[in-house]
Amino acid sequence: MDAIVKELRERLERAMQLSQGDRQPQRFRLSMLHECPRYQFFVVAEQLQEPVGLETSGHFLKGVLFEHWLRQAVFPDALYQYEVELEGIKGHVDFYFPPDVVVEVKATTSNSIPFLPDYSHRWQVQAYLTALKASGVTDDPKGFLLYLIVDNPALSLNHIYHIPLTPQAEWILQQNARLLSECWQRGEPPPIPERFSPHQPPCAGVAYGSYYTCPFLKRCWGETTIPAAAMVGVSSELVASAGQALAAQKEFLARWRDKLTLAERIGERLRQVMRENPDMEELVVEGGGWRVVARRDRQPTEMWQEGAKERMKQDLGEDFLRPYLRYERRIRVYWQQVGEERAP
Ligand code: SF4
Repeated sequence: MDAIVKELRERLERAMQLSQGDRQPQRFRLSMLHECPRYQFFVVAEQLQEPVGLETSGHFLKGVLFEHWLRQAVFPDALYQYEVELEGIKGHVDFYFPPDVVVEVKATTSNSIPFLPDYSHRWQVQAYLTALKASGVTDDPKGFLLYLIVDNPALSLNHIYHIPLTPQAEWILQQNARLLSECWQRGEPPPIPERFSPHQPPCAGVAYGSYYTCPFLKRCWGETTIPAAAMVGVSSELVASAGQALAAQKEFLARWRDKLTLAERIGERLRQVMRENPDMEELVVEGGGWRVVARRDRQPTEMWQEGAKERMKQDLGEDFLRPYLRYERRIRVYWQQVGEERAP
């Protein structure tokens, strides 16, 4: 049985990887034209290929399957993977209805709905529209993004977005295309764009909850020390307002500490009386419009006996428990006011 499962798994994995086709050499692409031109230049000059894991292959497969279906059943009258070009940089429109309608299809899941239409996808469609306009085939190209929500396809009907070509986007894309083509011919990377900084996107920053750096950061900016605030992605203003809120909370708690402690003590006293009277289901005390209710759960909750971990170590031995335990140096976070010398 194990051998059959292994065989099935291997076939599935192989097919998933093959669905991506052969990895093409890196070239300038209209879909990347909005990104840092210098980054694009280095990627192509050095043929930088990102490793593709099985998870990415799986996502790619979803797109391939749905695009196949769209081609057969929904848009048989469109030109599929229609090639457009701007300053020699090529792109392939998913579905082109000549002379002026471009439909780009993306497969996604319902978790991503709040972020639609995606920033990069909008630029990609605008790059195709710019190329189409530059080719002279139309003066007024119309772009659309169609999101296939693969875990609930009916939702796709609500996620078709019109992407107009703005004059600013057209200008930026044309400039980037021209710059890349000229630099490529000269064999020199484009200069670092104005207003870029080594500590801010796209050179470095926080994205999807973790800190990233452009793979060419050192080449563009030399050795840089990343400021802690940039690495954490928290501005000094945010720290200041959180600190103020914390100070206000401390003050509030100090004012109410005695009374809160009293409430805890009353609660604990009610629990204690109920523990001493196992048949008691509920206990209520009242005063001044307040009612304190202690009530036993209907179902017992599984709890560890006090000192269970230590007793298990003694009875079973630490080696037995080791696979279930982990050891780490805990990271504690303290707030201090600047000028406060007390060590944490
Ligand atoms: S470090 Fe910044 S300027 Fe250099 S290639 Fe990367 S994004 Fe562009």
